[in-house]
Amino acid sequence: MVVLDGVEKWFGKLHVLQNINLTVRQREVVVVIGPSGSGKSTLCRTINRLETIDQGSITLDGQPLPEEGKELARLRAEVGMVFQSFNLFAHKTILENVTLGPIKVRKRSKSDAEKRARELLDRVGVGHQADKYPAQLSGGQQQRVAIARALAMEPKVMLFDEPTSALDPEMIKEVLDVMVDLAEGGMTMIVVTHEMGFARTAADRVVFMSDGAIVEENDPETFFTKPSSDRAKDFLGKIL
Ligand code: ATP
Ligand code: MG
Repeated sequence: MVVLDGVEKWFGKLHVLQNINLTVRQREVVVVIGPSGSGKSTLCRTINRLETIDQGSITLDGQPLPEEGKELARLRAEVGMVFQSFNLFAHKTILENVTLGPIKVRKRSKSDAEKRARELLDRVGVGHQADKYPAQLSGGQQQRVAIARALAMEPKVMLFDEPTSALDPEMIKEVLDVMVDLAEGGMTMIVVTHEMGFARTAADRVVFMSDGAIVEENDPETFFTKPSSDRAKDFLGKIL
């Protein structure tokens, strides 16, 4: 589904992604963890082409990522992304936030888009908030709307970049529950998170990054109990 092959990226002199080889299969849930500055966000951003790469290739369903124009807009629809900050449109209602993309990019009719949006908002537990504005919702509710908004585009894969790290503790679980539900529903997911509970319950694979490289990848149980590299041991020692 998503294949990164020999991906290299520099920010000036900083070699931020170093020979990244990663294959994410359909329905697979891959959790990416690693120290701050190791390149996790940059990796996610290259997959929906918010960042370009300097060498190597990235393909989605066997197709190279498009460079620009309409094709790029479609890619952004097919690769849903949820960030740490919710990035909802402040001056649009919750319902409008979720229907905008499907109407503009997927060319859905307003009524179709609204019907689907309401289903998705119900699914993430904020159906009764549809006519409010983002600022009227809690952080956890806003993040669930951001997930619904990405899902409304019918993505092939969902990227999550530390979706719970800006949330108060009591709101983390409600967002993780939605993500676990998505994972169980068969969504292909790449998730940057330090939530080990999520990794253990939902991940098929854990990828550990350090200094721009994938240092280790394994099933969650093996990774957390028997990390093989010193860098992963050191990192786990700090966060567990
Ligand atoms: P964190 O856990 O703190 O979110 P991360 O693993 O997501 O870290 P990235 O945000 O991918 O790390 O950043 C990797 C490195 O690239 C960091 O050293 C960062 O300062 C640098 N970097 C990120 N974006 C840019 C940019 N646009 N220009 C220059 N350097 C950048
Ligand atoms: Mg980051």
